[in-house]
Amino acid sequence: MQSFLDAVAQRAADAGLAPPPASVTAVDFEALDANCLLIMSRMFGTRRPAGSRDSRNIMLGRYARVSRQLWTLLRPLLEQDYRRHRQRKNSLTRLAERLGAHGSWSHQLQRVRLGAHAVNEAQCQGGCGQAFNMSRMYQLLDDNVADESRDVKLVCRACTRRRCGLPPGRGQLFATRVEMTDDYGEGGEPAARLRFELCKSGYGLGGSAADHSRRSILGRAAPYPALCDADGPVLCDLLVSGLGRRCQWIDVSGSAFGDAGLTALARGLPACKSLLHLNLNSTRVGDQGVVSLATVLTPARPTAAPTAGKELKWLYLAALDDLGNAGAIALAAALTCRAMPKLECLWCCGAFSADEPLPSSSEDDDDDGGGGESRPGFRALTRACEARPGPLVLELEHGFAWGM
Ligand SMILES: [Zn+2]
Repeated sequence: MQSFLDAVAQRAADAGLAPPPASVTAVDFEALDANCLLIMSRMFGTRRPAGSRDSRNIMLGRYARVSRQLWTLLRPLLEQDYRRHRQRKNSLTRLAERLGAHGSWSHQLQRVRLGAHAVNEAQCQGGCGQAFNMSRMYQLLDDNVADESRDVKLVCRACTRRRCGLPPGRGQLFATRVEMTDDYGEGGEPAARLRFELCKSGYGLGGSAADHSRRSILGRAAPYPALCDADGPVLCDLLVSGLGRRCQWIDVSGSAFGDAGLTALARGLPACKSLLHLNLNSTRVGDQGVVSLATVLTPARPTAAPTAGKELKWLYLAALDDLGNAGAIALAAALTCRAMPKLECLWCCGAFSADEPLPSSSEDDDDDGGGGESRPGFRALTRACEARPGPLVLELEHGFAWGM
């Protein structure tokens, strides 16, 4: 009977491939799936190595033999896919680093997955002694030096907040807008360490915590170029890959992100189940991007729950010079359709709310008045926010340059 390897060799010969290279490195073994190897190894009989009583050795021997022979044969066929896979992983790692994460993408993913799967009930060792659902996320601030007898201290959310000097808060780890963002108001300092640790571990992407995080790796200020539209699909990939699941914030403010970038980012938002804060301030985002964002955030049916932005509390779309009526109206429509049910603050300003007359593209402006109040986008957004049942605050800055 013809062996499997002979068959593979025959296939390779039929395909007109060059003879496989003689030398194979150990790294190559990683390229084959373990299950696949197990199935194939069963097709071969391997004698137990002399003197060995451990059957695992046989299995390992089979793995090594089969994978070596098989990879040698399959390598020319798989090389391109393998290279593409490695390129993808590297691009995700680079982007995660630019957004403040430490370690490779796979490392971040592992951390986040551990946090997501750890739902065992544990007893808090942070002082309160109460039972709580354990999450690795709350253990990030653990000071092992303080107690060397334990590797990891199990600390609940309330105790984590207390250890950071934050007042007791209910629900999420970050209770207020000031705690999540230090670009607005004062009093967010105690939360800075929490944000920094979360950013480092892949639970938050970008913002001032990312700058701090990069400085702590490199010992200097961020050498990375600002994010641009080309990074949008990678960011979406990063979120969808699993890193978005426990992500608390995404902050790409001040970057060169435009409509294409935001459109790509928006596609990844349904994967972000815990997102509290999305910041696109001072980017090149305009109508098209905001329309895409509003579409993703709007529930599919009036009675259905939204698939994205369910937890979103703070949405920043300020200082967007290109944001006109179309974007503002789309956002207003989304709010009317019960998008972002937990939204507390919408900070939104741009061309639609400016005092200056809009450029010539504003033929839908049925009022020739100069003030922002007369703009249809401005009116729609104001009305939509006022009609919301929740405690939604709309902040509209007249003029482009906020804080200048
Ligand atoms: Zn506790």
